[in-house]
Amino acid sequence: MSSQTLDQFLTENLNQLRDQGLYNEIETVESANGPIITLNGKKQINLSSNNYLGLATDERLKKAAIDAVEEWGVGAGAVRTINGTLKLHDKLEEKLAEFKGTEAAISYQSGFNCNMAAISAVMDKNDAILSDELNHASIIDGCRLSKAKIIRVNHSDMDDLRKKAKEAKESGQFNKIMVITDGVFSMDGDIAKLPEIIEIAEEFDLITYVDDAHGSGVLGKGAGTVKHFGLQDKVDFQIGTLSKAIGVIGGYVAGKKELIDWLKVRSRPFLFSTAVTPADAAAATKAIEILMESTELNERLWENGDYLKKGLKNLGFNIGHSETPITPVIIGDEKTTQVFSKRLYEEGVYAKSIVFPTVPKGTGRVRNMPTAAHTKEMLDEAISIYEKVGKELSII
Ligand code: PMP
Repeated sequence: MSSQTLDQFLTENLNQLRDQGLYNEIETVESANGPIITLNGKKQINLSSNNYLGLATDERLKKAAIDAVEEWGVGAGAVRTINGTLKLHDKLEEKLAEFKGTEAAISYQSGFNCNMAAISAVMDKNDAILSDELNHASIIDGCRLSKAKIIRVNHSDMDDLRKKAKEAKESGQFNKIMVITDGVFSMDGDIAKLPEIIEIAEEFDLITYVDDAHGSGVLGKGAGTVKHFGLQDKVDFQIGTLSKAIGVIGGYVAGKKELIDWLKVRSRPFLFSTAVTPADAAAATKAIEILMESTELNERLWENGDYLKKGLKNLGFNIGHSETPITPVIIGDEKTTQVFSKRLYEEGVYAKSIVFPTVPKGTGRVRNMPTAAHTKEMLDEAISIYEKVGKELSII
């Protein structure tokens, strides 16, 4: 076979994606990412951000960031292990440990990078990882990087998990075995069955790893999925991101002090990539303080989620089985889902269509992410636009 040039590779593959309708055009937002955003000069009700508590534009976080820039400048200046660990990073990690109820925590530059860092620092080619089939891409990549054997588990299927954990344990082939799950699965808004997962983990001596990117700030009155189930002492790795409910950027692992000590000497993005900026660290710390002081934003998020769900369900839409404020409107057919989302956009609602291969064929949906920052008026308007478009396309 003759080798391909880069140009040939790119043209061939980009054309293929475009022909299949799978090339994702990126939209540029022309305003802050709040409950109302401007796109192409037009205001839209934003139901597509992960800014669950509205903290990305919160005045208290902005002030913390500005003060940090004034005092500490705009960059950390070095990787954490040389002299890039500022007091702000230490404070953030202390707060994270307090927030998650663990002995210690370590922060990274993003949630994605945190999964790449943490899994591969502990697991290797002599190990196995039981991973839910719907786990996030960063978990999948972190598992691959570790070179451990990846054993895919049917989504939230506890019989399948038990069977595969038993097989892995009894094979005697593996040094360590880990079970990894998202805390909340963001496509459907369902919650991992953590009590059962922990029971199975205890039976087969599994290391437990929960990525709570979509559960922190949302479940457990804000403290996350692990707290929601009261399992703080049972989960080895509590992973989170600072980019969703926390409103900033960064990722973290909360756990026992020894685990965090190990990650500080063995996780490569911590060792070889510069830390988050002073503004990021200070704003994220402020967000966690706000969450720990009051559940007001969390309550508003749930109220808004329930309000939107009820409104859409009453209109006759199929909203699936979400257990969190994430509200999918399941349309089914891929083409219709895309037309639906486009019509919503033309009417002033920004809610993304999610279709195969991100979700199984025939389960195309428009996903809505209400936040604490939406007002009832905004949600009412969104619901009435849904009604108009739903009738127009004969979905309701
Ligand atoms: N884990 C999960 C479960 C996620 O949904 C995401 C973000 N989509 C990430 C990790 C990555 O987080 P970040 O955006 O902070 O890199």
